[in-house]
This record gives sequence, C-alpha cells and structure tokens, in this order.
Amino acid sequence: MADDCIFCKIIAGDLPGEIVDQDEHTISFMDINPWTRGHALVIPRQHSANLYEITPEDLHHTAVAAKRLALTMRDKLGAEGINLLNACEATAWQTVFHFHIHVIPRYTDDPMTLPVRPMPADMEELVKVAEQLRG
Ligand code: AMP
Ligand code: ZN
Repeated sequence: MADDCIFCKIIAGDLPGEIVDQDEHTISFMDINPWTRGHALVIPRQHSANLYEITPEDLHHTAVAAKRLALTMRDKLGAEGINLLNACEATAWQTVFHFHIHVIPRYTDDPMTLPVRPMPADMEELVKVAEQLRG
C-alpha cells in the first residue's frame, strides 16, 4: 500500500468504493465520474504507479479482470461495445497514480466521441518513427 494513494485506500476499505468484482489480485469498482452508464475501473491490489511500473503478472491479472467485467457489462447492462482505456503519466491524462484500466461500456448515441481526428500518415515520417522504435 502506498501512502496517500486513494485507490490503495479503497482496497483497504478506508475509502468507500462501489466494488463490482474482485479476485485474489484485482478489484473493480465504479468510477465516481462516469463517462457512460456503468463506467468502472479495474486495479491490481498491489500498488504500482502506472504502465511503466506495473509487473507483467499484475498487468495480466488486471487485463483478465477487465475482460471479465466487459462481458458482465455486455450481459447485464446491455452494453453494445466496450472501450478499455489506460492513462500513463500526467501528459497522457493520468490523474490517479495507481495503475487502472477504465472499462467503459458503450451504447448507441452515448456521449463519447473520439478525442482526435485521425489523419492519413506522412509516410516518410511514419517510416522514420518505425526505425526509431526498432532502434
Ligand atoms: P485517470 O484520469 O485515467 O488517472 O483516471 C482516474 C479515474 O479515477 C477518474 O476517472 C476519476 O473519476 C476516478 N476516481 C477518482 N477518485 C475516485 C474515487 N474515490 N472512487 C472512484 N473513482 C474515482
Ligand atoms: Zn495505490
């Protein structure tokens, strides 16, 4: 448990959380500012700040729990689709520094829209970036 981590406090029962699923390694609870009806967060019980720091094992457990919750949202809430979202670092919108996957059920005509308008790549730049990534 990390000091001053609100999600660790939810795990410990020191802060309220509307828990909807849990197992040995993970807990899932309702997001307090839902983007759509049923928006929930899946977190590992073991604290890690974000994607850079989480262990492969906890990442696996959290992804498996997110899939389980997605199927529950489909079957019990009538979700017509699901978005999984993770923010890593403040620049990427992370506001709570305990790794979490947003599981967001989607419905026709819900209020969510794409945050960017995808544009065809500049192929020269695309090849350059790919070279950088391959190192
Ligand atoms: P992110 O911005 O990706 O780090 O996501 C953090 C999420 O945690 C936000 O969607 C918040 O609404 C949610 N959140 C913050 N505090 C709580 C809380 N006490 N209980 C449930 N969700 C919370
Ligand atoms: Zn924590």
